[in-house]
Formats: sequence, C-alpha cells, structure tokens
Amino acid sequence: MTSDVAGNAELTMTQQAYSKDPLADRETGHYRKEYVTSFVDKWDELIDWDGRAQSEGQFFIDILKARGKERVLDVACGTGFHSVRLTKAGFDVTAADGNAAMVAKAFENGQSRGLILKTAQADWRWLNRDIHGKYDAIICLGNSFTHLHEEQDRRRALAEFYAALKHDGVLILDQRNYDAMLDRGFSSKHKYYYCGDDVSAEPEHIDDGLCRMRYDFPDGASYTLNLCPIRKDYMRRLFREAGFERVRTYGDFQDTYAEEEPDFFIHIAEKS
Ligand code: SAM
Repeated sequence: MTSDVAGNAELTMTQQAYSKDPLADRETGHYRKEYVTSFVDKWDELIDWDGRAQSEGQFFIDILKARGKERVLDVACGTGFHSVRLTKAGFDVTAADGNAAMVAKAFENGQSRGLILKTAQADWRWLNRDIHGKYDAIICLGNSFTHLHEEQDRRRALAEFYAALKHDGVLILDQRNYDAMLDRGFSSKHKYYYCGDDVSAEPEHIDDGLCRMRYDFPDGASYTLNLCPIRKDYMRRLFREAGFERVRTYGDFQDTYAEEEPDFFIHIAEKS
C-alpha cells in the first residue's frame, strides 16, 4: 500500500473540515477533508453490503464477463465493496482510492473476508503516476466521479483513466440522476447504493454547481459531502471527448427507462 503525507494526515482526522460557508467549498481536492476516519468507519452502515449486493445483482460481473475482461482497477474503492465482490467472482482486482483511510478500510474488509486485496492510494488526477500497467477495465462507482468540481479535473481524470486502459478497455462509471434532482427536486427509492435501513441520505442544498448531501445515522452522527451535480448528457459528451468510442447508459441497472425515473445512471464507456 502506498501512502503520502496527506494520506497519513487523513488517517488521523476525525472531524470533517469545511470553511465558514460550507456552500463555498466547491473544490476537487476537498474530498480528503470529508472522508474522515469516523465517517469511513460508518460508510458500511450506510451502504449495507448485503442489501447492495442484492439490489445490483450480477450487473457489473455480467458486463465485465460478457466482454472477456479480467484485470480490473477499482479507482474509487471506498471501503472495498466492489473490489471484494469482483475478487470473489474471479477477477484480478486492484483497489485504489485517493483517501488513505478508505484504502486501509478496504484492505481490512478484504482481510476479514479471507482476501488480501492489492491496494494503492491514488488520486485520479495523477493516476498513472501511482498506478502502473494497463487494465482491461476501470470501475469508478458509488457516485464518486461527482466529487470533481472543476471541468478541467473531470477531463484530466478521464484522460488518466483512458491511458490506464488497454486499447479495448472499458470504463464503468456511475452517477446520481442529478438531472431529475435539478429539474424536479429530490426523491429516492432508497433501494440502490445506499441500502442501510436506518440511515438517511438526502440533499440539504442543491444548485447548478453544488449538491450537498447529508447522511444522518441512528446514533445521532451526521456527515455531509459536497458534490457537483453533473448532468447525464454532459457526462456522456465528456466520455466521447476523452476518446471513448461508445457510451451506453443504464438507469438503475436497466437499459430502458424514463429519464426522470432512475436514482442512478451507470455509463459503460468503451475505447473501441
Ligand atoms: N465506490 C465506493 C462505494 O460505492 O461505496 C466509494 C464511493 S465514495 C462516494 C467516493 C470515493 O471516491 C471516496 O472513497 C473518495 O475518497 C474517492 N475519491 C473522491 N475523489 C477522488 C479523487 N480525486 N481521486 C481518488 N479518489 C477520489
């Protein structure tokens, strides 16, 4: 596991850090101050591994197997949910994340399930500096990409993902249905991704440049994430402009859906 000074600092941070006006914190690197150890420790309560595995079923496994992919880089491993699932399904997975506390948690979660995950700490903006070799597939799941607040960082991250993929590699990246949130207001089936029964995940503020999500836990603990509400078609355009030849977008794991219906979109972007 690689680490750096910022990473070690994260491992000991317990309180989220926002400026006086948290709505002004719209900066890509801010995620490191948001995923503090106490929140990381609660993440699995929020996502509920069993509920999430049941709701997404074999979706990602089928997409990867149908394309004959084996070597997978999970660039936003978080606490390791997909890295563990895919490793168990026989894929050769590297679990990476920009946040040291997340990487450590993913390793621990793998270990407690009898796996030794290959882990690395890597920020997407400098991915190929820390991760070497080419992958069949990259996954960036759990609405992670929307931590990027600036367009040049989104383009840069996609260019790094593109470069880390083999010539026929595939990128699987998901996002909340921000179009529906911006145009119609928030509603959620609370069925996919955040499956924990007693945890509420709701936006406390939304405008064109910021979706501030708030997570309330039954013990009274509360955390927030400042995310950038990127629209579906804008994201699809970014993939194409980064060089991906084909992009297919699913809604809540279905290939046909009414635009406003899904809570999440899953994009499958192929290099060739
Ligand atoms: N994929 C996991 C899941 O679905 O449970 C984690 C999702 S969590 C919402 C977002 C993750 O993205 C965090 O672990 C965070 O550290 C990581 N992340 C955010 N911005 C990043 C960046 N610029 N580089 C690397 N990782 C980043």
